[in-house]
Amino acid sequence: MKIFCIGRNYVEHAKELNNPVPKQPMVFMKPDTALLLKNRPFFYPEFSQNIHYEVEVVIKIGKVGKYIEPQFAHKYIKEVTLGIDLTARDLQSQLKAKGHPWEIAKAFDNSAVLGTFQPYAPWKGKDIPFQLEKNGEIVQDGTTADMIFDFSKLISHISQFFTLKIGDLIYTGTPEGVGPITIGDEYKGLLDGQEVFSTRIK
Ligand code: ZN
Repeated sequence: MKIFCIGRNYVEHAKELNNPVPKQPMVFMKPDTALLLKNRPFFYPEFSQNIHYEVEVVIKIGKVGKYIEPQFAHKYIKEVTLGIDLTARDLQSQLKAKGHPWEIAKAFDNSAVLGTFQPYAPWKGKDIPFQLEKNGEIVQDGTTADMIFDFSKLISHISQFFTLKIGDLIYTGTPEGVGPITIGDEYKGLLDGQEVFSTRIK
């Protein structure tokens, strides 16, 4: 099982980090050891002092495919949920400055919070609103309507390079409003108004 993540897929988020808006989807990966499932807590690791939350819609692939045309890409989506792409922003900034790969800032253990999957069919072709609640307050409020590259374009693009297999996940990028996590925080993900995950920082 592979976990793909997309960077800078919302204009306002690219702006808040002073990044240019990409012309092609920016793809990176996390290993399966990054998954944090079943509302388990996240233990703040010692290697970073500035871990940020990034709430993202996550799609699960339901069919094997390669060189998928955008017009058929929706057939490869089985389920959707929300997750958090936890990012060690301090490490990431240092690595970016040196032009180095950023796995240790993005793909460390438990850096991929994952919610409960919902069938995709009811949303097919519709925009999906989603929110991240931090300690009872909404800190990120997005809709897939604001994505630079929609689900179909992402699936088509990734499948030019990687064979997609059943169960592969795509974290589709975060809207604006990212920020640091603190020990004691509680986060909840709301997908179209329904809670799909909660996690506490310890
Ligand atoms: Zn992200």
